[in-house]
Amino acid sequence: MRYNKAFIPTLREVPSEAQAISHQLMLRAGLVRQLSAGVYSFLPLGWRAMQKVMHIVRQEMDAIGGQEFYFPALNPIEIWHQTGRVESMGEVLFHIKNREGLVLAPTHEEVVAFHARQHVKSYKDLPQIWYQIQIKFRNEPRPRFGVLRGRQFTMKDSYSLDDSWEGLDSSYEKHNYAYQRIFSRCGLHFFVVGASSGAMGGSASQEFMVESPAGEDTCAVCASCNYAANIEVARSATEPTARLPESQYLERFPTPGVHTINDLVYGHGIPEERCAKALLYIVDRGPVLILLRGNDELNEAKLQAALGTISVRPAAPEELRAYTGATAGSIGPIGLPVSLPVIADERLRDANELVSGANADGYHYRHIDLMRDCRIDMYADLRTVQEHEPCPQCRSPLRIVRAIEVGHIFKLGTKYSEALGATFLDEHGQERPIVMGSYGIGIERIVAAFIEQNHDERGICWIPSIAPLQVHLIALGLEQSKAVHDAAEQLYQELWTNGVETLYDDRSETAGVKFNDADLIGLPLQLIVSPRNVESGVVEIKERRSGKRHHVASAEVVPVVQRLLKYLSQEPQSVIFP
Ligand code: ATP
Ligand code: MG
Repeated sequence: MRYNKAFIPTLREVPSEAQAISHQLMLRAGLVRQLSAGVYSFLPLGWRAMQKVMHIVRQEMDAIGGQEFYFPALNPIEIWHQTGRVESMGEVLFHIKNREGLVLAPTHEEVVAFHARQHVKSYKDLPQIWYQIQIKFRNEPRPRFGVLRGRQFTMKDSYSLDDSWEGLDSSYEKHNYAYQRIFSRCGLHFFVVGASSGAMGGSASQEFMVESPAGEDTCAVCASCNYAANIEVARSATEPTARLPESQYLERFPTPGVHTINDLVYGHGIPEERCAKALLYIVDRGPVLILLRGNDELNEAKLQAALGTISVRPAAPEELRAYTGATAGSIGPIGLPVSLPVIADERLRDANELVSGANADGYHYRHIDLMRDCRIDMYADLRTVQEHEPCPQCRSPLRIVRAIEVGHIFKLGTKYSEALGATFLDEHGQERPIVMGSYGIGIERIVAAFIEQNHDERGICWIPSIAPLQVHLIALGLEQSKAVHDAAEQLYQELWTNGVETLYDDRSETAGVKFNDADLIGLPLQLIVSPRNVESGVVEIKERRSGKRHHVASAEVVPVVQRLLKYLSQEPQSVIFP
């Protein structure tokens, strides 16, 4: 690729619309351009990187026995009605206005079950792994961070079809294996979160996460063991509130001006672990009182999970007053004007000698005994894990990090096959629904997540496996020196002849401009041909990431480049699933 003729619109300035570093660098290095909100065009360098990633994905999917399909993005709405997802997807599903009955597919479980119904008849037709790399459409309410959250993006999605839950377990494990290899080969430092039930028949789902400030997920990660969990389910080994041997008489006492737990701790000398913070939530239209220890933070996702509904919100001040007679900071489980369901965090289980609001402004109760003085309808894990709390597995301090979800594997079971009638006849001639799994990887997200983790202040630092090209050949003083021109031309030909993908900067720009662009684009190796080098019969090779420089005799350049590229990739060999 000759720079002079190539379309590589690099930018010197950081585009103001881009917050995430990957977004900035993808724009600056000329990889992508925005067409509209959440919709991006890939320019030649960006598309080459995408293709490298897709190549790795294909190899690893083929290695676990996956078969590549290509399903349409245009879907009959009928199959989406059959699974109930027209409603559950809501606004995210794109509908087509001038052609009734079609939608743009955000994922392909329905289409897979549709075709499975047509042609999978017997247990002998199973198992199957079907995959594709294809465009998905999702009307994301907040597309952001460039290609990390788009309204149109490229997904590798696959679907396993099995005749049993044991079969699904095996297909799921194969995907887990393939995903680990794909993300490793793409140079990502990732961790895996999610509940893997392990037990046969249990549904399970795991997400592959890449730590990055541009991530929209928050996770608790242990630095010592392999514990990692989304903050929505993360736990820690924090101490429960100890039940003291004796409960004293319940007592109401004045607390003028107290609004927070810290006011109680610092103003009244009450130990934080003896404070029971009360919150009022509206759950499915009804009020629920929630108790947490001290300054513990309520995790709404955990509350939703505990109550089995997504409809939860904090009560408005008027609702607070109507149901408790007080304002926030003065409510509690004792003396409520109306009886409310009370849910307490596990940490407070059966605790006593607690202080909480008296449901009257300026008053609290002390010596509350949850076993003696009030009815707790449910204890549940409701609190958000905090930085430095002990890991639930090994007690090392946890880190709370932002992370990008790059992949997701999911044991679906029979929901979609039942809805679409995708059944098979088992060994006994019994008709049964196909047991399905679904697995997704965002191709753009791999590219952007890689850049999030692999850049410096000058630009991107690609690794050979997914770099758009391998070598950036820079010729200096081209105009003035025929020797440089000839040497660079010859090297360029030689590199391509030997399969080394090379970008040749043959522009009549200054050395500074060329070096800046080369560091910004970030191909793994830079080869510098200058009048001085040509004179002494050498070529300078610079490793982009480390900045290490080598001076190599012209005749040796190609083999040295090949060795260096191999060394820089350290890629695991592609192998068939064991
Ligand atoms: P998120 O929680 O980030 O919205 P999701 O749970 O909706 O992701 P899945 O439906 O599991 O994602 O899709 C599989 C993969 O597709 C994700 O792991 C991610 O890599 C990618 N992906 C999902 N939504 C987008 C998007 N809007 N833009 C780019 N990639 C996406
Ligand atoms: Mg989503």
